[in-house]
Amino acid sequence: MFSFHKPKVYRSTQGCCICKAKSSSSRFTDSKKYETDFIECFQLAAPRKGEICNACVLLVKRFKRLPPGSERHWGHVVDARVGPGLKSMTKFKKRKEESLQQQKELKPVRPPKMTNT
Ligand SMILES: [Zn+2]
Repeated sequence: MFSFHKPKVYRSTQGCCICKAKSSSSRFTDSKKYETDFIECFQLAAPRKGEICNACVLLVKRFKRLPPGSERHWGHVVDARVGPGLKSMTKFKKRKEESLQQQKELKPVRPPKMTNT
């Protein structure tokens, strides 16, 4: 069944071109603005383009503010979230439990009370 509603999750059909996340709590952006920094920031072997998730955008921005000569990079993020969408969603859920407040719109599914038997 694919009919669950998650108002605060954005989806991308191709996924983020860096970490491959297909859903994110923030918008996916066209990677054009950031492509020139991808290679160094994520230590890519080849250029990538497409959509980029907000988490990766933040990393690129952080990368740009690194002091000159810094060797810091975020290569470990590349393809970190690759995999079948649904399975990685379960991993995702665990993390989300911490931020339950954001999910108040999602009512827990409870079986109906059996009072009328
Ligand atoms: Zn990403």
